[in-house]
Amino acid sequence: MNDNDNCICNINTKFGSWEQTVKLKAPKWSSKEYIWIDKCLVEEIEHLWDIGIITLGCCCGHKQTLPMINVEEQQYDKMIELGYTLLTNPHGKDRKDSFYPKTIIIEPQMVENHIRSYYNVGLLNYKK
Ligand SMILES: [Zn+2]
Repeated sequence: MNDNDNCICNINTKFGSWEQTVKLKAPKWSSKEYIWIDKCLVEEIEHLWDIGIITLGCCCGHKQTLPMINVEEQQYDKMIELGYTLLTNPHGKDRKDSFYPKTIIIEPQMVENHIRSYYNVGLLNYKK
């Protein structure tokens, strides 16, 4: 983790809102022409694309839940080499395809809300 927080969201930022995203020309490996990326992650995602990482999705967390960058699982070694930390995925604890972004600071409420969201769908036993 570094000290840069590229997340410009606040607790009122809505998930999936178009105004929080930027339309980027998709890399060659994508079947899409454009990919929408959270504003706060554009710099980091463009860098990953530049060095050949195939991303499958990302979210800055909008100061409300944990941020993540999803990649193809075979890129796990490369991501670890780049200094990324694996994000444990309650949907499958052996999955190796989701990482914490380096440019987003994780705040306590983001962890709390993340755990609660999995509790709400019955994936974790959670007591406050
Ligand atoms: Zn953000």
